Amino acid sequence: MSQKIPGFSTLAIHAGAKPDPATGARITPIYQTTGYVFDDADHAASLFGLKAFGNIYTRIMNPTQAVLEERIAALEGGTAALATASGHSAQHLIFHTIMRPGENFVAARKLYGGSINQFGHAFQNYGWEVRWGDVNDVSTFESQIDDKTRAIFIESLANPGGEFVDIEAIGNIARKHGLPLIVDNTLATPYLVRPLEHGADIIVHSLTKFIGGHGNSMGGMIVDGGTFDWSKSGNYPMLSEPRPEYGGVVLHETFGNFAFAIACRVLGLRDIGPAISPFNAFQILTGCETLPLRMQRHCDNAITVAGWLSNHPKVAWVSYPGLAGDKNHALQKRYSPRGAGAVFTFGLKGGYEAGVKLVEGLELFSHLANLGDTRSLVIHPASTTHRQLTDEQKIAAGAGPDTVRLSIGIEDSNDIVADLEQALAKV
Ligand SMILES: *Cc1c(COP(=O)(O)O)cnc(C)c1O
Repeated sequence: MSQKIPGFSTLAIHAGAKPDPATGARITPIYQTTGYVFDDADHAASLFGLKAFGNIYTRIMNPTQAVLEERIAALEGGTAALATASGHSAQHLIFHTIMRPGENFVAARKLYGGSINQFGHAFQNYGWEVRWGDVNDVSTFESQIDDKTRAIFIESLANPGGEFVDIEAIGNIARKHGLPLIVDNTLATPYLVRPLEHGADIIVHSLTKFIGGHGNSMGGMIVDGGTFDWSKSGNYPMLSEPRPEYGGVVLHETFGNFAFAIACRVLGLRDIGPAISPFNAFQILTGCETLPLRMQRHCDNAITVAGWLSNHPKVAWVSYPGLAGDKNHALQKRYSPRGAGAVFTFGLKGGYEAGVKLVEGLELFSHLANLGDTRSLVIHPASTTHRQLTDEQKIAAGAGPDTVRLSIGIEDSNDIVADLEQALAKV
């Protein structure tokens, strides 16, 4: 073996995995066990005291999960990672590790709807305040930072309209103020964008979407970039102060550039408990092997469909950064030259009624709330996910009455176009 770092497609298949030492099994087994036998009492004591690495209990770690963690860390270029039961639980563990009551963070206003709820409602119960910034005017992030701010949070490719974000510009603000930049890389995946190369410190994923890729398993991931100094400001005591339950260990001092991933595991996952099931970790590992192939096909199909829609007489507008005239086209070329992703929105001249008719007329597309499946998916946000909002709020969220969101699958592109064509004919 040469010393060279393998390419992305090789890592997607091999990173973290080797034949099972006990059986020779080539595929990573599903280690469906809750506990692990200790060698002896000393071994058990050193595991519990964080003096040695090893399996104790599947709420904290599991060998199938460990392979998935190593693989995603390699694909993102991070130092370590932690898998969780869902994308939302990964976000919860990240903020649990860095926030105390009365502190705040600045997040992009345009996010996955579930993240807007989690930050704006659930986090209030912990006394963690979210402030909203506009990624099209990065000064709105900086102007809201004060001495209680602990992080900045953005999506690399934002829901639901498929907009690329200038990660470097926001990373510069984070660095200037001594804050970690957290990037949700779910919609882009590391195949398209590697945020750690552009100034991010922590990556979060919903593995439920493109990385698992088959719409069959929930999962989340936290990737530690190893770039942030958790001790400098004294504002991150979970990492920089002695932990009484681990015999006074200071996590940042002991674990250095992977201390954040360790803290999320041994303080967050241990106490809050959203462990990924070994079966789901296995399913997602299998999906991950074809990520580069699928992602390219998703993008190639999406540009074909977006281009076709933009010439259709019943379509008012298409928001897809891969199209030459799109306001996000320059950012896409800079951050994601392989493609513009597979989730985007378009508007129908017929408004709300037309949106409902279209969704009902589609046959190949599935009408549901997920995205990043091999199958093409459609949703009309105004009559479903954003139903409770006023028209004004819907428009602000990028989900006006005429808006339809597509997640383009990896079927034959002419079949996807044909389905849209027959459904549009009925509108
Ligand atoms: C789905 C999604 C999440 C939440 O992940 P779950 O696995 O559903 O908990 C977070 N961010 C983005 C961008 C998503 O698409």
